[in-house]
Amino acid sequence: MSTKASQSTTLKAAVETAYEHAKPLGGGKNADYIPYLASVPSDLLGVAAVTREGEVHQAGDSQYAFAIESISKVPTLALVMEAIGPEKVRAQIGVDPTGLPFDSVMALELHRGKPVSPLVNAGAIATASLVPGANAEARWKAILDMQSRLAGRQIELSDEVNQSEQTTNFHNRAIAWLLYSAGSCYSDPMEAVDIYTRQCSTLVTAVDLATMGATLAAGGVNPTTGERVVSAEVVPHILAEMMMEGLYTGSGTFAYEVGLPGKSGVGGGVLAVSPGRLALSGFSPPLDGDGNSVRGLAALRSASVSLRLDLFGTA
Ligand code: GLN
Repeated sequence: MSTKASQSTTLKAAVETAYEHAKPLGGGKNADYIPYLASVPSDLLGVAAVTREGEVHQAGDSQYAFAIESISKVPTLALVMEAIGPEKVRAQIGVDPTGLPFDSVMALELHRGKPVSPLVNAGAIATASLVPGANAEARWKAILDMQSRLAGRQIELSDEVNQSEQTTNFHNRAIAWLLYSAGSCYSDPMEAVDIYTRQCSTLVTAVDLATMGATLAAGGVNPTTGERVVSAEVVPHILAEMMMEGLYTGSGTFAYEVGLPGKSGVGGGVLAVSPGRLALSGFSPPLDGDGNSVRGLAALRSASVSLRLDLFGTA
Protein backbone atom coordinates (compact mmCIF):
# COMPACT_ATOMS: atom_id res chain seq x y z
CA MET A 1 0.00 0.00 0.00
CA SER A 2 1.32 3.51 -0.79
CA THR A 3 1.97 5.89 2.11
CA LYS A 4 -0.98 8.00 1.04
CA ALA A 5 -3.32 5.02 0.95
CA SER A 6 -2.15 3.85 4.34
CA GLN A 7 -2.59 7.35 5.85
CA SER A 8 -6.08 7.38 4.44
CA THR A 9 -6.88 3.99 5.98
CA THR A 10 -5.49 5.15 9.34
CA LEU A 11 -7.59 8.31 9.29
CA LYS A 12 -10.76 6.46 8.29
CA ALA A 13 -10.21 4.00 11.16
CA ALA A 14 -9.52 6.84 13.62
CA VAL A 15 -12.80 8.56 12.72
CA GLU A 16 -14.75 5.31 13.06
CA THR A 17 -13.06 4.46 16.37
CA ALA A 18 -13.72 7.98 17.70
CA TYR A 19 -17.40 7.56 16.82
CA GLU A 20 -17.64 4.11 18.45
CA HIS A 21 -15.81 5.39 21.52
CA ALA A 22 -18.13 8.38 22.01
CA LYS A 23 -21.38 6.66 21.05
CA PRO A 24 -22.19 4.88 24.36
CA LEU A 25 -21.16 7.82 26.57
CA GLY A 26 -23.83 9.57 28.61
CA GLY A 27 -23.81 12.81 30.55
CA GLY A 28 -24.40 16.41 29.68
CA LYS A 29 -27.57 18.21 28.70
CA ASN A 30 -28.76 20.11 25.62
CA ALA A 31 -28.53 23.90 25.96
CA ASP A 32 -32.01 25.18 26.75
CA TYR A 33 -31.59 28.95 27.16
CA ILE A 34 -32.11 29.01 23.38
CA PRO A 35 -35.43 27.10 23.05
CA TYR A 36 -34.60 25.61 19.63
CA LEU A 37 -31.50 23.86 20.98
CA ALA A 38 -33.50 22.02 23.65
CA SER A 39 -35.60 20.43 20.88
CA VAL A 40 -32.70 18.83 18.96
CA PRO A 41 -32.53 15.03 19.56
CA SER A 42 -29.87 14.42 22.21
CA ASP A 43 -28.78 11.06 20.83
CA LEU A 44 -27.37 12.46 17.58
CA LEU A 45 -23.63 11.96 17.10
CA GLY A 46 -21.55 12.83 14.08
CA VAL A 47 -17.78 12.79 13.57
CA ALA A 48 -15.81 14.02 10.57
CA ALA A 49 -12.27 14.65 9.41
CA VAL A 50 -11.12 16.65 6.40
CA THR A 51 -7.48 16.77 5.37
CA ARG A 52 -5.60 19.65 3.81
CA GLU A 53 -5.77 17.69 0.57
CA GLY A 54 -9.56 17.59 0.79
CA GLU A 55 -9.98 13.96 1.80
CA VAL A 56 -13.18 13.50 3.83
CA HIS A 57 -13.98 10.79 6.40
CA GLN A 58 -17.17 10.70 8.42
CA ALA A 59 -19.20 8.57 10.79
CA GLY A 60 -22.71 8.66 12.27
CA ASP A 61 -24.88 11.77 11.92
CA SER A 62 -22.18 13.70 10.10
CA GLN A 63 -24.70 15.10 7.59
CA TYR A 64 -27.18 16.35 10.19
CA ALA A 65 -27.52 20.16 9.95
CA PHE A 66 -27.26 21.84 13.35
CA ALA A 67 -26.86 25.42 14.63
CA ILE A 68 -23.27 26.63 14.32
CA GLU A 69 -23.58 28.90 17.38
CA SER A 70 -20.22 30.04 18.74
CA ILE A 71 -18.16 28.27 16.11
CA SER A 72 -19.34 31.22 13.95
CA LYS A 73 -17.01 33.39 16.03
CA VAL A 74 -14.09 31.94 14.03
CA PRO A 75 -15.30 32.93 10.51
CA THR A 76 -16.23 36.43 11.71
CA LEU A 77 -12.85 36.81 13.40
CA ALA A 78 -11.17 35.73 10.15
CA LEU A 79 -13.16 38.34 8.25
CA VAL A 80 -12.27 41.14 10.65
CA MET A 81 -8.61 40.11 10.95
CA GLU A 82 -8.39 40.24 7.16
CA ALA A 83 -10.04 43.64 7.12
CA ILE A 84 -8.24 45.46 9.93
CA GLY A 85 -5.24 43.22 10.70
CA PRO A 86 -4.22 41.26 13.82
CA GLU A 87 -2.76 44.29 15.60
CA LYS A 88 -6.02 46.23 15.55
CA VAL A 89 -7.90 43.13 16.71
CA ARG A 90 -5.52 42.96 19.66
CA ALA A 91 -5.93 46.66 20.44
CA GLN A 92 -9.69 46.93 19.94
CA ILE A 93 -10.87 43.56 21.30
CA GLY A 94 -7.95 41.82 23.02
CA VAL A 95 -6.45 38.38 22.44
CA ASP A 96 -6.22 36.77 25.88
CA PRO A 97 -8.26 34.10 27.64
CA THR A 98 -10.85 35.39 30.13
CA GLY A 99 -10.91 32.35 32.45
CA LEU A 100 -14.65 32.96 32.80
CA PRO A 101 -17.77 31.58 31.08
CA PHE A 102 -18.55 32.59 27.49
CA ASP A 103 -21.36 34.97 28.45
CA SER A 104 -19.63 36.48 31.47
CA VAL A 105 -20.43 40.05 32.41
CA MET A 106 -17.85 39.84 35.19
CA ALA A 107 -15.09 39.34 32.62
CA LEU A 108 -16.07 42.66 31.07
CA GLU A 109 -16.21 44.39 34.44
CA LEU A 110 -12.75 43.08 35.32
CA HIS A 111 -11.26 44.62 32.18
CA ARG A 112 -13.07 47.98 32.11
CA GLY A 113 -15.43 46.93 29.41
CA LYS A 114 -12.79 45.47 27.07
CA PRO A 115 -13.84 41.98 25.95
CA VAL A 116 -10.25 40.58 26.06
CA SER A 117 -11.06 37.67 23.71
CA PRO A 118 -12.84 37.65 20.34
CA LEU A 119 -14.14 34.14 21.07
CA VAL A 120 -16.41 34.95 24.04
CA ASN A 121 -19.82 36.54 23.46
CA ALA A 122 -18.71 40.09 24.34
CA GLY A 123 -15.66 39.88 22.08
CA ALA A 124 -17.65 38.30 19.27
CA ILE A 125 -20.25 41.07 19.42
CA ALA A 126 -17.40 43.59 19.30
CA THR A 127 -15.92 41.66 16.36
CA ALA A 128 -19.28 41.75 14.55
CA SER A 129 -19.33 45.52 15.10
CA LEU A 130 -16.03 45.76 13.20
CA VAL A 131 -17.14 43.86 10.07
CA PRO A 132 -16.79 46.25 7.14
CA GLY A 133 -19.88 47.08 5.09
CA ALA A 134 -22.09 50.03 4.13
CA ASN A 135 -24.97 48.84 6.29
CA ALA A 136 -26.14 45.96 8.47
CA GLU A 137 -27.27 43.84 5.51
CA ALA A 138 -23.90 44.23 3.75
CA ARG A 139 -22.09 43.24 6.96
CA TRP A 140 -24.33 40.22 7.46
CA LYS A 141 -23.78 39.17 3.84
CA ALA A 142 -20.00 39.37 4.32
CA ILE A 143 -20.22 37.09 7.37
CA LEU A 144 -22.43 34.54 5.62
CA ASP A 145 -20.10 34.66 2.64
CA MET A 146 -17.08 33.95 4.88
CA GLN A 147 -18.84 30.98 6.53
CA SER A 148 -19.71 29.66 3.05
CA ARG A 149 -16.23 30.11 1.59
CA LEU A 150 -14.66 28.35 4.57
CA ALA A 151 -17.14 25.47 4.32
CA GLY A 152 -16.91 25.27 0.52
CA ARG A 153 -20.67 25.45 0.01
CA GLN A 154 -23.45 28.00 0.46
CA ILE A 155 -24.33 28.14 4.16
CA GLU A 156 -27.88 29.29 5.01
CA LEU A 157 -29.53 31.04 7.93
CA SER A 158 -32.16 28.99 9.74
CA ASP A 159 -35.16 31.27 10.31
CA GLU A 160 -36.30 28.95 13.06
CA VAL A 161 -33.02 29.10 15.00
CA ASN A 162 -32.69 32.84 14.40
CA GLN A 163 -36.23 33.50 15.61
CA SER A 164 -35.58 31.39 18.70
CA GLU A 165 -32.37 33.32 19.49
CA GLN A 166 -33.55 36.83 18.59
CA THR A 167 -36.53 36.54 20.92
CA THR A 168 -34.46 35.32 23.89
CA ASN A 169 -31.05 37.09 23.55
CA PHE A 170 -31.59 39.67 26.31
CA HIS A 171 -28.33 38.80 28.05
CA ASN A 172 -26.31 39.38 24.88
CA ARG A 173 -28.12 42.68 24.31
CA ALA A 174 -27.13 43.75 27.81
CA ILE A 175 -23.51 42.80 27.04
CA ALA A 176 -23.65 44.88 23.84
CA TRP A 177 -24.81 47.97 25.76
CA LEU A 178 -22.04 47.46 28.34
CA LEU A 179 -19.50 47.22 25.53
CA TYR A 180 -20.91 50.35 23.93
CA SER A 181 -20.79 52.32 27.17
CA ALA A 182 -17.11 51.37 27.54
CA GLY A 183 -16.23 52.34 23.96
CA SER A 184 -15.69 48.72 22.92
CA CYS A 185 -18.57 48.37 20.44
CA TYR A 186 -17.77 49.95 17.11
CA SER A 187 -21.24 50.14 15.54
CA ASP A 188 -24.77 50.55 16.85
CA PRO A 189 -24.84 47.93 19.65
CA MET A 190 -28.24 46.49 18.77
CA GLU A 191 -27.16 46.15 15.16
CA ALA A 192 -23.98 44.35 16.28
CA VAL A 193 -25.94 41.94 18.46
CA ASP A 194 -28.48 41.33 15.68
CA ILE A 195 -25.70 40.40 13.25
CA TYR A 196 -23.95 38.29 15.88
CA THR A 197 -27.21 36.45 16.64
CA ARG A 198 -27.74 35.74 12.95
CA GLN A 199 -24.19 34.43 12.51
CA CYS A 200 -24.92 31.94 15.34
CA SER A 201 -28.14 30.80 13.63
CA THR A 202 -26.81 29.23 10.44
CA LEU A 203 -26.95 25.48 9.90
CA VAL A 204 -23.86 23.37 9.34
CA THR A 205 -22.93 19.69 9.33
CA ALA A 206 -19.93 18.04 10.95
CA VAL A 207 -18.39 17.81 7.47
CA ASP A 208 -18.89 21.57 6.97
CA LEU A 209 -17.14 22.25 10.27
CA ALA A 210 -14.23 19.98 9.43
CA THR A 211 -13.92 21.66 6.02
CA MET A 212 -13.82 25.07 7.69
CA GLY A 213 -11.09 23.76 9.98
CA ALA A 214 -9.22 22.11 7.11
CA THR A 215 -9.12 25.48 5.36
CA LEU A 216 -7.30 26.86 8.39
CA ALA A 217 -5.11 23.73 8.60
CA ALA A 218 -4.13 24.37 4.98
CA GLY A 219 -3.04 27.94 5.72
CA GLY A 220 -6.24 29.55 4.47
CA VAL A 221 -6.89 27.67 1.21
CA ASN A 222 -10.11 25.66 1.11
CA PRO A 223 -9.08 22.12 0.11
CA THR A 224 -12.39 21.34 -1.61
CA THR A 225 -12.77 24.51 -3.69
CA GLY A 226 -9.09 25.47 -3.99
CA GLU A 227 -10.00 29.05 -3.10
CA ARG A 228 -7.76 31.14 -0.85
CA VAL A 229 -10.21 32.27 1.81
CA VAL A 230 -7.92 33.64 4.53
CA SER A 231 -4.40 34.96 4.08
CA ALA A 232 -1.61 32.76 5.41
CA GLU A 233 -0.35 35.49 7.78
CA VAL A 234 -3.68 35.71 9.58
CA VAL A 235 -4.23 31.96 10.15
CA PRO A 236 -1.74 31.48 13.04
CA HIS A 237 -3.38 34.32 14.98
CA ILE A 238 -6.82 32.72 14.58
CA LEU A 239 -5.48 29.34 15.71
CA ALA A 240 -3.75 30.93 18.72
CA GLU A 241 -7.07 32.42 19.82
CA MET A 242 -8.78 29.06 19.38
CA MET A 243 -6.11 27.42 21.53
CA MET A 244 -6.49 29.94 24.35
CA GLU A 245 -10.25 30.50 24.46
CA GLY A 246 -11.94 28.22 21.89
CA LEU A 247 -13.51 25.98 24.53
CA TYR A 248 -13.99 28.72 27.14
CA THR A 249 -13.30 27.50 30.68
CA GLY A 250 -12.58 24.08 29.17
CA SER A 251 -9.77 25.42 26.95
CA GLY A 252 -6.98 24.34 29.30
CA THR A 253 -8.37 20.82 29.59
CA PHE A 254 -8.74 20.65 25.81
CA ALA A 255 -5.10 21.72 25.35
CA TYR A 256 -4.07 19.18 27.99
CA GLU A 257 -5.99 16.27 26.49
CA VAL A 258 -6.32 17.02 22.78
CA GLY A 259 -3.45 19.45 22.26
CA LEU A 260 -4.99 21.30 19.33
CA PRO A 261 -6.66 24.66 18.71
CA GLY A 262 -10.41 24.12 18.89
CA LYS A 263 -13.79 25.79 18.93
CA SER A 264 -17.10 24.71 20.37
CA GLY A 265 -20.69 25.89 20.09
CA VAL A 266 -23.74 25.37 22.31
CA GLY A 267 -25.45 23.67 19.36
CA GLY A 268 -23.19 20.68 20.14
CA GLY A 269 -20.58 21.20 17.44
CA VAL A 270 -16.87 21.09 18.19
CA LEU A 271 -13.90 21.56 15.91
CA ALA A 272 -10.15 20.90 16.26
CA VAL A 273 -7.45 21.96 13.81
CA SER A 274 -4.17 20.15 13.31
CA PRO A 275 -2.10 22.86 11.57
CA GLY A 276 -0.65 21.74 8.26
CA ARG A 277 -2.54 18.45 8.36
CA LEU A 278 -6.28 18.24 8.90
CA ALA A 279 -9.31 19.18 10.96
CA LEU A 280 -11.57 17.01 13.10
CA SER A 281 -15.14 17.78 14.09
CA GLY A 282 -17.75 16.29 16.34
CA PHE A 283 -21.44 16.99 16.85
CA SER A 284 -23.61 15.84 19.74
CA PRO A 285 -26.03 18.19 21.55
CA PRO A 286 -25.56 17.38 25.28
CA LEU A 287 -23.10 19.85 26.84
CA ASP A 288 -20.85 19.79 29.90
CA GLY A 289 -20.67 22.59 32.45
CA ASP A 290 -18.32 24.66 30.27
CA GLY A 291 -20.84 24.58 27.39
CA ASN A 292 -18.91 22.02 25.32
CA SER A 293 -20.30 18.85 23.71
CA VAL A 294 -19.57 15.86 25.96
CA ARG A 295 -19.49 13.24 23.23
CA GLY A 296 -17.99 15.63 20.67
CA LEU A 297 -15.03 16.18 23.00
CA ALA A 298 -14.69 12.45 23.64
CA ALA A 299 -14.56 11.79 19.89
CA LEU A 300 -11.92 14.47 19.30
CA ARG A 301 -9.84 13.19 22.21
CA SER A 302 -9.92 9.69 20.79
CA ALA A 303 -8.96 10.77 17.26
CA SER A 304 -6.22 13.14 18.41
CA VAL A 305 -4.62 10.43 20.56
CA SER A 306 -4.82 7.69 17.93
CA LEU A 307 -3.47 9.97 15.19
CA ARG A 308 -0.84 11.51 17.54
CA LEU A 309 -1.95 15.02 16.66
CA ASP A 310 -1.10 16.66 20.01
CA LEU A 311 0.92 19.77 19.12
CA PHE A 312 2.90 19.44 22.33
CA GLY A 313 4.03 15.91 21.55
CA THR A 314 7.73 15.54 20.88
CA ALA A 315 7.78 12.03 19.40
N1 GLN B 1 -25.68 32.12 20.35
C1 GLN B 1 -25.11 31.65 21.57
C2 GLN B 1 -25.00 32.79 22.58
O1 GLN B 1 -24.77 33.89 22.17
C3 GLN B 1 -23.75 31.08 21.30
C4 GLN B 1 -23.01 30.66 22.56
C5 GLN B 1 -22.09 29.50 22.37
O2 GLN B 1 -22.21 28.72 21.43
N2 GLN B 1 -21.22 29.29 23.32
O3 GLN B 1 -25.16 32.58 23.75
